[in-house]
Amino acid sequence: MQKIKNYINGELVAPISNLYIDNYNPATGKVYSFIPDSDEQDVNRATEAALAAFPKWSVTPKEERSRIMLKIAELIEKNLDRLAIAESIDNGKPVSLARMIDIPRAASNFHFYATGILHYASHCHAMEDTAINYTLRTPVGVAGCISPWNLPLYLFTWKIAPAIASGNCVVAKPSEITPMTAYLLSELCIEAGLPKGVLNIVHGYGHKVGAAISAHPKIPLISFTGGTKTGAEIARVAAPMFKKISLELGGKNPNIIFADCDFENAVKTTLHSSFANQGQICLCGSRIFIERSIYEKFKNEFISKVKTLKVGNPADSESRLGAVVSKAHMEKILSYVELAKQEGGTILSGGHQVKLDGEFSEGYYIAPTVIEGLAYNCRTNQEEIFGPVVTLTPFETEEEVLMYANSTQYGLSAIVWTESLTRAHRVAGMLHAGIVWINCWLLRDLRTPFGGVKSSGVGREGGFEAFDFFTEPKNVCIKLK
Ligand code: NDP
Repeated sequence: MQKIKNYINGELVAPISNLYIDNYNPATGKVYSFIPDSDEQDVNRATEAALAAFPKWSVTPKEERSRIMLKIAELIEKNLDRLAIAESIDNGKPVSLARMIDIPRAASNFHFYATGILHYASHCHAMEDTAINYTLRTPVGVAGCISPWNLPLYLFTWKIAPAIASGNCVVAKPSEITPMTAYLLSELCIEAGLPKGVLNIVHGYGHKVGAAISAHPKIPLISFTGGTKTGAEIARVAAPMFKKISLELGGKNPNIIFADCDFENAVKTTLHSSFANQGQICLCGSRIFIERSIYEKFKNEFISKVKTLKVGNPADSESRLGAVVSKAHMEKILSYVELAKQEGGTILSGGHQVKLDGEFSEGYYIAPTVIEGLAYNCRTNQEEIFGPVVTLTPFETEEEVLMYANSTQYGLSAIVWTESLTRAHRVAGMLHAGIVWINCWLLRDLRTPFGGVKSSGVGREGGFEAFDFFTEPKNVCIKLK
């Protein structure tokens, strides 16, 4: 069976401990490869490599950094099928989804930041004839990048690309649950000629590798995407060391459907925003609020479409939902379905594990689940489930639904369906969220700021905001007379 390796100082190496962790295929429930069980020693080695590479990489002309990154983007595109299949086997998501969304976006991340850096400029503040101030933007040094399992290569590259484009060197850790495409990326980086030490990838557990990155005194910046609890732990460790941190955390996003919406479009897109990637996207709209006058109509139409969604072998192009990422995660999701029942909810569709045949009989499949009859403030409607589970709740007025929508600790994204221009703008302004989609979902322009408010995070990624984060501004003031 394949043993994944760490990527340190330009080479693929075994963990110092020589210990490995089982890597499961969620579609079959079987171990299919081994992940380095790295620890602090490997993080130290990676950090030393990054520190050694930094003086040269940070002054490498941006055109040259861009050229290498464009080569990596090209290689990701060239390996689209291989990477999409690897992502699906590691994560359980349909291959079709990985081929359409995850892998193309990973290539776009490199492409976008490779070209973006050529256009990134800093400010000048002139004090009439007295003085000129200009802002120098310099890379911070070694950036620590830690990413989750739901969109493995997509989110991993979303951090790495702006970090190295702006001249930093990186020590990165993908989720130990989905390490394979990060490993394949390290092979592509070698092929593209990325200088040694610029990117170092250390595989292993969060409490070992992630914690060692967060606590390392020579890593002054942490970019983290993952759960709110882990984000709080990283902030606790990083804050006394005055590290720069960007935290992209959990969500419990509202999907608000007003009676004046484009009904067909709202139903169709709500299927995606509820169940894409088995509901394991931080931006999924898991709380669906429907104006009372169309509640029954929406519910009936939505449920009839949900029942047609095929849960199955992720490699089958007919499957709309594959497996959820792990046995533990499946059990967590199903425990929330039980909680919903205890809290008085009615299961309108799904609510159970799906047992497939043959080699998939031990896989982690859950039927897309729709629940109604719950209070807006019960635990099912307040806590992040991160699976194919949504709730339906009717509302009467705009004020009422805004109160429901804003009632959670989270504030990542929100979706609003209405044909009223004034209402769309008014509601968008009042929602506690970093991103509001009106009459669409997951439409992304990589130039826009991305992030959340409240317990959904601190800081913004995306566009030039990412370059601002990965560089330190220094004001230089020159007296003219
Ligand atoms: P986790 O917080 O469990 O893990 C995220 C990463 O952090 C993993 O690589 C994990 O390693 C690592 N980690 C765990 N413990 C520590 C630690 N003490 N110090 C440093 N690193 C650590 O999140 P999940 O992987 O379960 O991802 C799901 C979560 O991510 C959801 O809450 C989801 O909403 C959120 N998310 C947010 C997004 C956003 O943009 N706001 C986007 C996508 C997901 P290991 O895997 O070994 O535990």
